[in-house]
Amino acid sequence: MKITRRSFLKISGATAAGTVMGGLGFDLSPVESYAQELRIKGAKETTTVCCYCSVGCGIIVHTDAKGTVINTEGDPDHPTSEGGLCAKGMSLYQLVTNKDRLKKVLYRAPNSTKWEEKSWDWTLTEIAKRVKKSRDASFVQKNDKDQVVNRTNGIAGIGCAHVNNEEGWLYQKFLRALGLVYIEFEARL
Ligand code: SF4
Repeated sequence: MKITRRSFLKISGATAAGTVMGGLGFDLSPVESYAQELRIKGAKETTTVCCYCSVGCGIIVHTDAKGTVINTEGDPDHPTSEGGLCAKGMSLYQLVTNKDRLKKVLYRAPNSTKWEEKSWDWTLTEIAKRVKKSRDASFVQKNDKDQVVNRTNGIAGIGCAHVNNEEGWLYQKFLRALGLVYIEFEARL
């Protein structure tokens, strides 16, 4: 066998390392290895959209048999993000499992310093009442040039990055039907 300088150094290095490790009491005999079981094994997969910004990256949510979220990750089948997520999207799981996450409506009355817990029925009714009151008070049928405008400058609408195209279309249609002209999107503010 022809021994080159490179193979001599390799053999002598490996022998020296083996001798040292053995001498230190390490067991160098082969051990059986096994793959760790995936924690999402058997979990239900549901797709959703990242809630943080207007890019709207696709997310897969894994839930266990009790419906508890056990993992979130990028959705490789999503047409725009193709499984990629930024650091915020990667941490979405922590948003779901955060112990400080609000799960009930909290209402602070004008000039009050306290938050009160309210039902969704009360909250949605109250929002509808206030939208109507503001719209009635600020609705303008004609402008200074006597042109029909049918608009309200008393309310502004802000869209949400959670919604998809169809929901966004419905939302802006609803706002325009009320006569709103100040319509924006949260990611642009
Ligand atoms: S993963 Fe990042 S880029 Fe994608 S929607 Fe969420 S925040 Fe925006």
